[in-house]
Amino acid sequence: MAKIKRIGVLTSGGDAPGMNAAIRAVVRATLYNGCEAYGIYEGYQGLINGDIKKLRSNHVSNIIQRGGTILKSARSKEFRTVEGRAKAAANMREHKIDALVVIGGDGSFTGARIFGQEHGIPVVGIPGTIDNDLYGTDSTIGYDTAVNTAVDAVDKIKDTASAHNRLFFIEVMGRDAGFIALRVAISTGAEAVLVPEIESDLTDLNDFLGKDYDPTNSSAIVIVAEGEKSGGAMQIAEKVSKSHPNYDIRVSILGHMQRGGSPSPFDRVLASQLGVAAVEALLDDQSNIMVGIMNKQITQVPFNKTIKNTKSLNPELLKLVKVLSFR
Ligand code: ATP
Repeated sequence: MAKIKRIGVLTSGGDAPGMNAAIRAVVRATLYNGCEAYGIYEGYQGLINGDIKKLRSNHVSNIIQRGGTILKSARSKEFRTVEGRAKAAANMREHKIDALVVIGGDGSFTGARIFGQEHGIPVVGIPGTIDNDLYGTDSTIGYDTAVNTAVDAVDKIKDTASAHNRLFFIEVMGRDAGFIALRVAISTGAEAVLVPEIESDLTDLNDFLGKDYDPTNSSAIVIVAEGEKSGGAMQIAEKVSKSHPNYDIRVSILGHMQRGGSPSPFDRVLASQLGVAAVEALLDDQSNIMVGIMNKQITQVPFNKTIKNTKSLNPELLKLVKVLSFR
């Protein structure tokens, strides 16, 4: 492989708090190692459009604490085509960018893998998604912050739920994965959690509500992941209100607030470590891999593996919700 002199960085897919900290780390580590850093704006679409800027150290000053991404993110249909990726590769050649760091989720890594193989460009991925649904890393950048934000909101809803003896169904993010929902449920002492990974027939929930729940003298919180199979918090609340018409039921959908805000110290440190690890991996002739952290050790996981494998929810944690809501 030719010696890498210029490294490009982009953010792709859903934004996540901590992406800025990762951009900063990639840029600073690139410069530290005597290379030049290039920011690509609006993900793969920016690579296709040639929206590329040389970044100096001061361009990433004062961003470690900011949510969102200074490079913007996008979903690019054109990058899914051979022609789109050829334009992207031509722009990289024009700017003499030798290698690419992609901060995003599994969709972004699928694109990165195809792109890298088609055009012989070294690509390393950094897991940036609030959903934590990537195999090969204990935590993704943004997950910890999103959980903190959701816990803060649920704590507040609990106050009003208890003042009125209400049953609240609170929907948190997670289209395909229940990591946020499960962690939020344990942290807030929720009575139940419904996640996409488990086909919920509502039997457990109905058992709990039917036998143990006194709607005149108690409140309850049920955390629902948005991708839950029966359709999310609204639909579940409707079903439960039919079977339990005397309950005072409310629904709260937390929505995009979970993506925003200042990243937690955990996410800032994770992003900093992974940004440096990604650059070091490229300079060490690694390609087609995602960098992650498992059991406090940096990991390098082939894109293939992280895309194909599914990270499972910890069954012990699921059981914990049940045990700790026992009345
Ligand atoms: P999140 O987990 O937050 O949704 P993601 O990285 O999975 O993030 P996607 O929208 O799935 O987000 O993918 C981001 C971009 O990656 C897409 O808009 C597209 O440009 C590119 N991409 C995804 N899948 C492919 C593919 N099969 N071929 C080429 N490019 C792809």
